[in-house]
Amino acid sequence: FQHKLDELRNVPAKTQDGIQVRLLANTGLLADITPGIRNGAEGVGLYRTEIPFIVRDSFPTEDEQVQVYGKVFDAYEGKPVYVRVLDVGGDKQLPYFPIHGEENPALGWRGIRFTLDNVQLLMTQVRAIIRAARGQENLHILLPMVSSTAEVETFRRLLDDACAELQEEGLELIYPKLGVMVEVPAAISQLRFWRDKIDFVSVGSNDLSQYLLALDRNNARVANRYDHVHPAVICEIERAVQSAREAGIPLSICGEMAADPVAVLLLLGMGVRSLSMSSAKLPKVKWLIRSISLPVAEQFLSEARQLDSTQQIRDAGKALLEAIG
Ligand code: PEP
Ligand code: MG
Repeated sequence: FQHKLDELRNVPAKTQDGIQVRLLANTGLLADITPGIRNGAEGVGLYRTEIPFIVRDSFPTEDEQVQVYGKVFDAYEGKPVYVRVLDVGGDKQLPYFPIHGEENPALGWRGIRFTLDNVQLLMTQVRAIIRAARGQENLHILLPMVSSTAEVETFRRLLDDACAELQEEGLELIYPKLGVMVEVPAAISQLRFWRDKIDFVSVGSNDLSQYLLALDRNNARVANRYDHVHPAVICEIERAVQSAREAGIPLSICGEMAADPVAVLLLLGMGVRSLSMSSAKLPKVKWLIRSISLPVAEQFLSEARQLDSTQQIRDAGKALLEAIG
């Protein structure tokens, strides 16, 4: 089996008819780096920086952050790295900065809403990220939980300030690429306004599904109803893909969907060509991509569009996957 994995690492993620798909790793702990490289990740599609914050007992300093992020940049030198700024709140609590008293934490003070209200914290992190990238062109900064243009614009000003400050301090840098997570449903309709405001988007299918279905998959009472291949989720993701394409904004998927074989077929059919997932899932997804051709995925997507239940889409997908092997 290890032998098979080694073989897969060095072959491209290309469909039988030659469509190239970019496969990236999600990471958070430094321990994820080695498995990512070993499984052939072409870069880091989602670096969840809240993880190094959560495993400490106080806010890391700028220098401490530079150290940690720097290891990821070193390991993936010359490859794209998408660093998401701190995404806490909701289900991700910092032990030393708990957010209490919210009736509805998933709809509360989290992601970019939290960091834009804590500018000093955000500025420290952004400076650390840029310093850690050491002038590499591969730095992409990703904003979580964005739902408005104003959030993007406010962050852009902070990023400009951070770059200006660091340059004054003598750092040579390349201005980073900036993008947003599409995980609050409102972001889908906003995409068409962001042509000149951002360089890329990454669909966070976990939160996007949670908010579209109004379902918390961490709540045992309803978790069994949660499934990202719900027809409404598929429809909205397709709308995001089309809108991003029309606006000329490159799109990637970084939630659990990116590693779910049935969803991968649908996403390929929609024209998605970049997927980011936990490194353990990379070989299987690469194997699947190499086993199919694009018309198969497109045909499956057009069938799925006519199905009005998750179960029907799952059944059709399962039958197709079994036929593929
Ligand atoms: C997501 O919401 O799909 C996502 C990738 O972000 P996280 O799982 O870290 O919230
Ligand atoms: Mg999320």
